[in-house]
Amino acid sequence: MSNTEWSIQTKLLHNSHKTDKETGGVSVPVHLSSTFHQSDFDAFGKYDYARSGNPTREVLENAIADLEGGVRGFAFSSGMSAISTAFLLLSKGDHVLVTEDVYGGTYRMVTEVLSRFGIEYTFVDMSDLHHVASEIRPNTKVIYLETPSNPLLKITDIEGIVKLAKANECLTFLDNTFLTPALQQPLGLGVDVVLHSATKFLAGHSDVVAGLAVVKDEELGNQLYKLQNSFGAILGAQDSWLVLRGLKTLHVRLKQSTESALKLAAFLSKHPAVEEVYYPGLSYHPGCSVQRYQASGPGAVLSFRLADEDAVRKVVQNVQLPVFAVSLGAVETILSYPAKMSHAAMPREERYRRGITDGLLRVSVGLEKAEDLIEDFRTALDLLPKVKPLQYARL
Ligand SMILES: *Cc1c(COP(=O)(O)O)cnc(C)c1O
Repeated sequence: MSNTEWSIQTKLLHNSHKTDKETGGVSVPVHLSSTFHQSDFDAFGKYDYARSGNPTREVLENAIADLEGGVRGFAFSSGMSAISTAFLLLSKGDHVLVTEDVYGGTYRMVTEVLSRFGIEYTFVDMSDLHHVASEIRPNTKVIYLETPSNPLLKITDIEGIVKLAKANECLTFLDNTFLTPALQQPLGLGVDVVLHSATKFLAGHSDVVAGLAVVKDEELGNQLYKLQNSFGAILGAQDSWLVLRGLKTLHVRLKQSTESALKLAAFLSKHPAVEEVYYPGLSYHPGCSVQRYQASGPGAVLSFRLADEDAVRKVVQNVQLPVFAVSLGAVETILSYPAKMSHAAMPREERYRRGITDGLLRVSVGLEKAEDLIEDFRTALDLLPKVKPLQYARL
């Protein structure tokens, strides 16, 4: 059995660097060298300067490339620096189509930074392929997707978008932060660049900020390497090691968190104070069947809608287990309030148009016992008046 046949669960523990060649060490050494001695000026060694290449970072880059089924991986100082560096593949006059409920930092990068360099953009609801097709222009070079999306967990048909992109000679970028290669492998579905905030599930312990990019085409890999080295937003050796350690338990963490998320979603969808629950693991979620086809699980993030800001305040003040914070994908359950956190910068009208109302809460389910979490939410939600369920009226 070769490495390519191993399941992701096995690959997470047995990569080509599973033991140190020199010492047999089972944990990857942290190489803090910024520069490397050269014994011959006519033939430099493999490493010369750590922005261009560092042995610890390289292990992580190889590991994520292998897990995503790509040929080349790149590690960056944050998810946003991975995403921003990938956008540097674009040139003045190019146009990019971006999923409507894209991550807030990506929205800011596209609307406030790329626009200053003459790169045009259009936001579209990627769950509607006809709409996407109608927005492609002759200068469209990239279609940028995020599925499931944030915070409404909308599902985009990845292969459908890839077909449109290929027919129009544009690249597809996909932010795979929510599912990770343990649940969704977009390169295999034809996507060109997979991006990650490794800060979330990949590292998984709320202790490091990191980003990753993976490609399956050598030439695109060379271009991205040049940009990584030119822009210089690389991940440090120590942080690379933290992501590598987190990766070892990715499969078991996601498995447990997904199981609990399913239970929590089922509980929330029956609670009389909850208007709607957004989770692709619920059979009545509009994206459920596409999700089942293209991913091997619904993941550990869900959102639910309460009546208004007062209801949210009451819940936030009365739950004991979740951390109330931005971010997601950690061992502890994280409760976020998109209206005041990830989407605070968005004008209220625009936010409401996207379904991100003042009553919406997002939960990233951690490793607590599901029944404890449910009891905690029940205690807080029981303090609220009953509402009429909306059942996806807004999706
Ligand atoms: C957090 C996040 C990012 C940005 O990553 P950072 O590591 O915070 O820079 C990008 N995309 C998604 C989906 C995220 O959740």
